Amino acid sequence: MYRTRTCGSLRLADEGLVVTLAGWVQRTRKMGGMTFVDIRDRYGVTQLAFNQEENALLWEQANKLGREYVIQVTGTVRERSNKNKNISTGEIELIASELTVLNAADVPPFTIEDETDGGDDIRMKYRYLDLRRNPVRANLELRHRMAFEVRNYLDKQGFLEVETPILVNSTPEGARDFVVPSRMNPGQFYALPQSPQTLKQLLMVSGFDRYFQIVKCFRDEDLRADRQPEFTQIDCEMSFVEQEDVLELFEGMAKYLFKTIKGIDIKESFKRMSYADAMKYYGSDKPDLRFGMEFVELMDIMKGHGFPVFDNAAYVGGICAKGAAVYTRKQLDALTDFVKRPQIGAKGMVYARIEADGSVKSSVDKFYTQEVLQELKAAFNAEPGDLILILSGEDVAKTRKQLNELRLEMGSQLGLRDKNKFVCLWVVDFPLFEWSEDDQRFYAMHHPFTSPKPEDIHLLDSDPGAVRANAYDMVINGVEVGGGSIRIYDSALQNKMFGLLGFTPEKAQEQFGFLMNAFKYGAPPHGGLAYGLDRWVSLFAGLDSIRDCIAFPKNNSGRDVMLDAPAALDDEQLKELNLSIHLAPNS
Ligand code: ASP
Repeated sequence: MYRTRTCGSLRLADEGLVVTLAGWVQRTRKMGGMTFVDIRDRYGVTQLAFNQEENALLWEQANKLGREYVIQVTGTVRERSNKNKNISTGEIELIASELTVLNAADVPPFTIEDETDGGDDIRMKYRYLDLRRNPVRANLELRHRMAFEVRNYLDKQGFLEVETPILVNSTPEGARDFVVPSRMNPGQFYALPQSPQTLKQLLMVSGFDRYFQIVKCFRDEDLRADRQPEFTQIDCEMSFVEQEDVLELFEGMAKYLFKTIKGIDIKESFKRMSYADAMKYYGSDKPDLRFGMEFVELMDIMKGHGFPVFDNAAYVGGICAKGAAVYTRKQLDALTDFVKRPQIGAKGMVYARIEADGSVKSSVDKFYTQEVLQELKAAFNAEPGDLILILSGEDVAKTRKQLNELRLEMGSQLGLRDKNKFVCLWVVDFPLFEWSEDDQRFYAMHHPFTSPKPEDIHLLDSDPGAVRANAYDMVINGVEVGGGSIRIYDSALQNKMFGLLGFTPEKAQEQFGFLMNAFKYGAPPHGGLAYGLDRWVSLFAGLDSIRDCIAFPKNNSGRDVMLDAPAALDDEQLKELNLSIHLAPNS
């Protein structure tokens, strides 16, 4: 037996026990004739004590241990004189009587402690060492517990976990596909699923009624802090449901996770907001509702007073930051620079302070009388000490997006985005289509299988942009944790949808014939959603990037620096696959 106990399990009550532990050397401290070694495993750290006087040979052996050596030690549990309240085993130590080095270790490239000196690149290259660190391991433990509770909840609700294939055809979720060449079918490729969307719909046609799967999905998109090329969804689908049924069941799941994982009891129903309102009041389809600062449109008040920037704008709107009138000129200039950054793209920012006497002092005083500025103040119900920030622009949607960035920045600066506070929201009534200026065509806002609201179907031909969908997103603290829709289950309507999305009937048949055919054999009304497990874990763990809750993540260029993937294939493999590589000139 390698061990009788783990390194996190011994307590004062175990005093006098003889136990064997196995683990890694966290650190050694030599203090005169005593050497202390911290031994670590997944469960914790235990202090080992080696006494020169009692056992000189063993003491010498202990002094030779290097960091991260794998050792086995037997000893007697004893109360510690110098207690450490920060660790669970801090009241005891093990007086060692036997020590075996199971494996020596090179000096690790960075310190394996909670706070490490390793930079991102080096930690990713040696991710297996990084994973020995408590905070990283804790994230993966949290991930495990969440996945476990998800299975628990869905199982109790009658869901069946069904695996769907990874080698499939294109499944459109609006990203590029990752493809895999087929050796047995020269010149042909599988696509990795962007989601199991069509397959889960087929399972509904098969009568499975309630399906879920914790499943890897693959999307070849530009990467950001909340995006990885492969990520995990909690993918769900239900038959004979309307939107309300889906929202209710999955709100229940969210509350269950808050309760079991975070110990937070959410009694009230989640807020609901239409997409149109989310855009109007927050400039985002995933508003962070931990704080207010809703947009107020100011066209009526601010236009027509000779300030050309506003007079020529299609949108003038602002936010009111409570108590921020104390902002100095320098801070306001920094905010202006912030909104002018190319990623945000505003041309400038106007501010107005509410002074102690109630008067308003603005950066455009020369264009506005105090009377108009008082109207501005009234529009926000602003009080002395408040700061109004205004943006304007020629494009309504773009300006709202810029104002969203400013709102989030002010929320952060004023400490209103507390990671331990959670505000959940359903965003509903998304548009069915999204117009692309670049391509001069409509795209499905969610995906092509999403159903239009029955009351808007008559607009499908005349005004597709105005058709609303039975689609919904769950948003927590400004993070879209999940989304889904009630699906089309009628092959004629599905066909029409493909037509509106620019598919020729032949192309639609070629790509999605299997689904439309299936719909001819008795497809039940159905709908569902998918949660992003990575995002959800990051949110619960308070992480800034989903990478930190993934065991072996990719970097921002989509590379696994530890495996050194992707990599070129050797000639032999290419030959087997009937492939030859001709890179395009500028790649
Ligand atoms: N397949 C969708 C997605 O990946 C989710 C859904 O509609 O159920 O976003």
